[in-house]
Amino acid sequence: MAQIKLDQLAHSYYPNPKTAEDFALKEMDYLWDDGGAYALLGPSGCGKTTLLNIISGLLVPSRGRILFDGEDITTKSPEERNIAQVFQFPVIYDTMTVAQNLEFPLANRGVDRGEIKKRVDEMLDTLDLGAKANRRARGLTADEKQKISLGRGLVRYDVNAILFDEPLTVIDPHMKWQLRTKLKELHQRFEHTMIYVTHDQTEALTFADKVVVMYEGEVVQIGTPEELFERPDHTFVGYFIGSPGMNILPCEVDGHTAVVAGHAIALDAEYHASAGARLELGIRPEFVRFTSDTQIGIPVSIESVDDVGRHRIAKVLLGGHAMNVIVPEGQLIASTDHRVALDPQRCAIYANDHRIDAADIKQGLRHDY
Ligand code: ATP
Repeated sequence: MAQIKLDQLAHSYYPNPKTAEDFALKEMDYLWDDGGAYALLGPSGCGKTTLLNIISGLLVPSRGRILFDGEDITTKSPEERNIAQVFQFPVIYDTMTVAQNLEFPLANRGVDRGEIKKRVDEMLDTLDLGAKANRRARGLTADEKQKISLGRGLVRYDVNAILFDEPLTVIDPHMKWQLRTKLKELHQRFEHTMIYVTHDQTEALTFADKVVVMYEGEVVQIGTPEELFERPDHTFVGYFIGSPGMNILPCEVDGHTAVVAGHAIALDAEYHASAGARLELGIRPEFVRFTSDTQIGIPVSIESVDDVGRHRIAKVLLGGHAMNVIVPEGQLIASTDHRVALDPQRCAIYANDHRIDAADIKQGLRHDY
């Protein structure tokens, strides 16, 4: 297992990149812990595969270095890096049996027979493939084949890292959950450094200790699932994490007050934003509630209310800005004069998409909520 350092790393697919837009990966500097489980999460085209391929050695970055345990491996081949990689679609030998497929990476590296048997049996058991150990891979379902692919990556114990590129795409939804849980278990047991690429927040949040959120070629935040929910550093993180995501409303800020579409909203602290910045107020739908209190309630119009089982989600318009409100079970929504209150402690202020810190949180006025 290895610690992975990205040292001023950047990549452009163009030979002579000029502007920031020419870079599929903008400059990044990070240190990822030995034995950590990381998920690279972001929408299509944000650079996840580019970064994964640089780590695995399929791609040489146009700028910067990559180090495993302090050793510069930027120009080393995937084999020399000693990593295992699991792709979106199964990479297995169809004519071999399930057990032979799992043995192959170990036999190739000269591991002794006894150890191979032990590890293959363990992996067959882990992946519930024991009953099919002696079946040829050719006749198996797509799910089963992908499980073999996962097994071929996980069966090796000497790897610096295991990289997964959307490995559960072909797996059926029920099995997805089982395999994710399995991967997490295996990580806890063997403490491999694992990097898992996905555009699915549930996959990222359930698998990883740390989620690396990417947007337009940049890492916008690295955090635990709780940190990403509680304290999104970037509007994209707020919007992308959560169901539904954070409400992001254009605003002006004056000390302890934000003004959205002419309505004053109390903040928990005082903010100073530099002149000319594009300001937005972010609040998760969980922390907005309907109220009849005309002192703190801001008038809204209701567009729709959807019952999603555990609660309802009301889509409202606040001075023309759409926002979501999570309505807990049992809470009534008035038939007229709709107003919402925003929890001041849960309001975040963003300048040009980046969260800004409050100037004096301790002395901040507490408004009744
Ligand atoms: P997806 O989830 O769709 O795979 P991604 O987040 O993995 O997306 P990348 O595949 O890394 O994103 O692509 C990042 C950017 O680089 C995109 O704008 C893409 O069009 C561009 N790109 C990727 N591969 C190449 C290539 N071989 N040549 C030129 N541009 C590329």
